[in-house]
Amino acid sequence: MAKRDLTPKSESMSKWYTQVIQQAKLADYSPVKGCMVIRPNGYGLWENIQKNYQPMLDKMKVRNAYFPIFIPMSFLEKEADHVEGFAPELAVVTHAGGEELVEKLVVRPTSETIMYHMYSKWIQSHRDLPIKINQWNNVVRWEKRTSFFLRTTEFLWQEAHSAHATQEEALDTMYEALETYRSIAEDYLAIPVIKGRKSESEKFAGADVTITIEALMPDGKALQSGTSHHLGQNFSKIHAFNISFQDENDSTQYVWQNSWGLSTRILGALIMTHGDDEGLVLPPRVAPTQVLVMNASKDAQAIEVVKTIVDTLKKSGVRVEMNIDDTTSLGWKLNDAELEGIPVSLIVGARELAENTVTAVVRYTHEKQSLEISNLEKSIPELLETIQTNLFRAAKERQDALTFEANTFNEFKQIMSANRGFIKAFWCEDEVCEAKIKEETKATTRCLPFTSAHGAVEEEQGKCVHCGKSANHRWLFAQAY
Ligand SMILES: [Zn+2]
Repeated sequence: MAKRDLTPKSESMSKWYTQVIQQAKLADYSPVKGCMVIRPNGYGLWENIQKNYQPMLDKMKVRNAYFPIFIPMSFLEKEADHVEGFAPELAVVTHAGGEELVEKLVVRPTSETIMYHMYSKWIQSHRDLPIKINQWNNVVRWEKRTSFFLRTTEFLWQEAHSAHATQEEALDTMYEALETYRSIAEDYLAIPVIKGRKSESEKFAGADVTITIEALMPDGKALQSGTSHHLGQNFSKIHAFNISFQDENDSTQYVWQNSWGLSTRILGALIMTHGDDEGLVLPPRVAPTQVLVMNASKDAQAIEVVKTIVDTLKKSGVRVEMNIDDTTSLGWKLNDAELEGIPVSLIVGARELAENTVTAVVRYTHEKQSLEISNLEKSIPELLETIQTNLFRAAKERQDALTFEANTFNEFKQIMSANRGFIKAFWCEDEVCEAKIKEETKATTRCLPFTSAHGAVEEEQGKCVHCGKSANHRWLFAQAY
């Protein structure tokens, strides 16, 4: 049987990554450079993230809405850091309806400005607060170098924006939002992440504080996988959005704001974290198809049994499909299921029929086991959960093995050139020093790791790994996607 033409992940992860995405039909190149077409297999993954994330938003009392894709240029110019942060990536509409526009329109790179323009109209009194609104939408940031999911000119995400009467409440919400992202990454995508605070130079343009979840890919490069921002009063007061309200004492106050976003970028992390030389490996909780049932013999009884199994599993809530195509061999069917990362394949052949069993092939271990047909509604959900747990454990072990401490800059450089990975090191928190570390090692500060859900950090006295000045914290460094 001809082997598919997939560069092994162990040989070149970047080649493997681009090929596996196309071969597993997750996405394809679009006629517009830098954009991508997300195919049903890829979109199904995004939909499963949405399905799992929406209840978390509901629990936070965040409501969905929709704002226009076009934003007046002047809105972005109101917040200097914000427009400066986005200027090089903006797509601007100058002509429409056959005329040159008097006011140029920006295709949204993010929706702070247009949403806060509306918030200033809607918020008058403390009784109007808090406001928590989420959009599932697309944004455009013109990228020069692009890569499927990781960096595309247009991408899908959710962006949630809240306004609060007090800073304390806003900060609580910022941490609550990051916890939802940790849960999506770890509990659903089986990607271990580190929570922490971004440095001044790495934070969001226009934020007072940015907190993040950082994942480590198997090649030792980090991937920022979701961020939650406290915008302080940067938009409401300091700049011209003027989002004010009358408090209980009838005095005028400005709101405290947050925003947080999770994008299709995290699918890049999912693909890289679990995939292997044979193709994708999808964690059962987000796999569009969890189980594929196939026949190994062409007789009618095998096909009947396949159909019965599909019905049974559907009833117990398993996302199950069948492949009874008699023009391809069992080997090809298994190969395809393997490439697409379907967690479990079930095979019904002559031997299985005689024994009233099926052969289950677990994608990530390639292990085969025999399961009683009469017990599948119990054994399959259990097997899927075991796979989910084991995928997370394996990813966590890889991450731990690639997490180092460096006490000298020589050590730091050696680790970065030999293994890459996360490095914990003292840093003086001076931006110039941070830039020099990046220049010499390509590593950036990923975050100052938290030791609690509410942003506590470990205080420790040491010397900056680069300049030797006194430092109060060990930061997490890595080269990053
Ligand atoms: Zn330093």
